[in-house]
Amino acid sequence: LSEVLEHEQDLPSETPDGHAMPLMVNTGLAVDASALLKSRIGGVGLYRTEVPFMITERFPGEKEQMRMYREQLEGFAPLPVVMRTLDIGGDKDLPYFPIEEANPFLGWRGMRVTLDHPEVLMVQLRAMLKASHALNNLHVLFPMITNVDEVDEALRLLDRAIVELGEEGIVVRRPQVGVMIEVPATIYQMDALAKRVDFFSVGSNDLTQYLLAVDRNNPRVSSLYDALHPALLGALQELSQDAKRLNKPVSLCGELAGDPAGALLLMAMGFTSLSMNAPSLPKVRAAIRRVSFTDAQALLQEIMQLDTPSQVHTHLNARMDEWQ
Ligand code: PEP
Ligand code: MG
Repeated sequence: LSEVLEHEQDLPSETPDGHAMPLMVNTGLAVDASALLKSRIGGVGLYRTEVPFMITERFPGEKEQMRMYREQLEGFAPLPVVMRTLDIGGDKDLPYFPIEEANPFLGWRGMRVTLDHPEVLMVQLRAMLKASHALNNLHVLFPMITNVDEVDEALRLLDRAIVELGEEGIVVRRPQVGVMIEVPATIYQMDALAKRVDFFSVGSNDLTQYLLAVDRNNPRVSSLYDALHPALLGALQELSQDAKRLNKPVSLCGELAGDPAGALLLMAMGFTSLSMNAPSLPKVRAAIRRVSFTDAQALLQEIMQLDTPSQVHTHLNARMDEWQ
């Protein structure tokens, strides 16, 4: 089977009835921007900038960040690279910036931290913009958005960074900007968000945790943590329909995208791309190449009739076995 998969990796990520489903990769530290990988993906759907920050001894400066970002942008050019601004807090702590809270996942996290520290965000945005000079494949993604005000403030800082650089003689193009849909409240603000940004990216890891009120890292409740919970599938379907109505691309970059059955359901819902860790690419591509879009849509309809997570899993497993 692995040989078949290997050979398939050079074939398009497309269903037998011709529906293209672009696959992207999630990156952090390692930059495997080999020509081989590049020919097989649509770009980087999520570059988690906090990962390199975790192995430094202090906040990296603008030059240092610029080098890191340039490596990503240049390595994958001309493919798009979605760079997420610092998403610390929750379970991701920087040794040199400790955050101690009773409820870290409900606390000072992601954009909440960087909007309180615009000096940190400005350095990062300037470094990203500078790194994208003449490449123009940078997309910027804001994490942990709860309110539209936060988006306005982040965009204000982005525009300020562009103006500042212009005054310094570095003319940069305004990148495409997106927000993470991972706090459930954003699902109900799609129209307002769409007025402000170019694309949506669903963080299903956090959306699962927040929608089900289940800590994503607590083994005691891990049996309740399920991205295929009917409530989550309902939320994903609703928000993807909203994105379509609003004419905005919507990607999903959580673990669910790297699960073949999950990927088929997301495709059927109308997600415009899926972003996953590189090792998941072969199995997801294989699933997409085997199952027609029509069949995936029929499967989605069947799944949406089910009441419990275990019914969803049983039904999905049965179908996936048939499609082996
Ligand atoms: C997510 O929440 O699904 C996501 C992709 O981001 P992270 O796992 O880094 O929180
Ligand atoms: Mg997240």
